[in-house]
Amino acid sequence: MVWDTPIHTEPLTEAEASDRFPESVYQLANRWDRYLAIPEVEEAAAAKETFWLNPERRPFDQAEKELSFTMEDILDAQRRIRRFAPFLAACFPELEESAGIIESPLQDIPAMADSLWKDWGMTGQDGIQKGRVLIKLDSELAVAGSVKARGGIYEVLKVTEDLAFRAGILKETDDYSRLKEYREFFSGYTIQVGSTGNLGLSIGIMSAAIGYRAVVHMSADARQWKKDLLRSKGVIVKEYEGDYGEAVAEGRALSDKEETSYFVDDEHSSRLFLGYAAAALYLRKQLEEKGIPVDCDHPLFVYLPCGVGGAPGGITLGLKYVFRDAVHCFFAEPVQCPCMLLGMAAGEGERISVQDFGLTGRTIADGLAVGRPSGLAAGNMKPLLDGIYTVKDSLLLDWMRRLKETEGIVMEPSACAAFGGLRALAGKKGSAYCREQGLPEKSACATHIVWATGGSLMPEDVREEYLQTHLQ
Ligand SMILES: *Cc1c(COP(=O)(O)O)cnc(C)c1O
Repeated sequence: MVWDTPIHTEPLTEAEASDRFPESVYQLANRWDRYLAIPEVEEAAAAKETFWLNPERRPFDQAEKELSFTMEDILDAQRRIRRFAPFLAACFPELEESAGIIESPLQDIPAMADSLWKDWGMTGQDGIQKGRVLIKLDSELAVAGSVKARGGIYEVLKVTEDLAFRAGILKETDDYSRLKEYREFFSGYTIQVGSTGNLGLSIGIMSAAIGYRAVVHMSADARQWKKDLLRSKGVIVKEYEGDYGEAVAEGRALSDKEETSYFVDDEHSSRLFLGYAAAALYLRKQLEEKGIPVDCDHPLFVYLPCGVGGAPGGITLGLKYVFRDAVHCFFAEPVQCPCMLLGMAAGEGERISVQDFGLTGRTIADGLAVGRPSGLAAGNMKPLLDGIYTVKDSLLLDWMRRLKETEGIVMEPSACAAFGGLRALAGKKGSAYCREQGLPEKSACATHIVWATGGSLMPEDVREEYLQTHLQ
């Protein structure tokens, strides 16, 4: 059932797709040769650590015209989040203190930064200098314990508001905590989602709290503890042998059969995207409070772990609207799962998957174990994103240990991929990028934000197991 048509993001039907992309076997073979002629595509397809710079990135005032969303869309999302705050504070005791606003701290990590710069030979002689390194702790976001609390919860709230307006039980000017009286009403509806784990946690926990019947379709990569936690909240968990794409396809098909079921579409949802984008508004406030300027003389570098691309894409969109050309955004992917790198570098977006290139798509970074990028994210990132790098699984665990030792912070392996951004920038290609952007002399005044995307819900034994694991 479609309750409200997404703004620009309907997936193509098969007929439309073949109409638009008719292709002979000959053309197909030709196309693969062309992709593999792009050095970063060849490297990434060989599961090597790769750093790709986006040749199509443009100055923001030109890029803005091509985006699917405006600043007003992002502000509208923020207003909706605020309207729901009294309701969330009433539902979740952990949100009482923040009056229902789900946000995360921004904190300096000098010891971790020093330790990493030392490894990567950041001397300041060639290319860029060290700058100040902060961590954005979405790993500690309330309710869902990951970045998915932003997009996932926002989408459930948007759907809830639409339903409640339509049923005449809520007006925009009401105190939204009255929705607590309508569990019975919401129990007549189902919310479903396909997930590698964290999106399921965010959608499942929030849907169940409102009163919906919640069904999460989990891929083989999803960790057992995430399934157990969801079941303990009354969420129905369906397990699949295959990967994320399969869980999504099944979930969508099952949901479409039911009149009263809504499917959260991670790959095409403009709502998820806007929920993530709103993060930028609060980050601006946090940087102001810390007295950290961001402008062309004080560049901001942000490193974001990427799965399907919704979370890092939405956050990048928001950041570029707020900081324009002063912010430089990079995505991080596991070497076996560089779906966004391959999709964007080959110029094909969601039309190709990592499996097409012979990669397994398997990784210890379960939040990033996605074989095919979101077309919505890839399309909007085309004129905006600065680059994408890949990281080996073994390094994710090393950085996880090091962060615990140096700063006492623990996050999940997926989130640790963000640290690779400092290494990418410190390397040859990163230095060349900085020179081309006129940044070397400004880099001592630069701020780097490592976006910690998840981890606080990890059970003690899972956390210990990761910390004890050493991969080659
Ligand atoms: C989902 C997730 C991401 C990436 O988000 P996408 O929208 O899939 O790109 C990054 N880190 C963690 C921990 C996640 O759960």
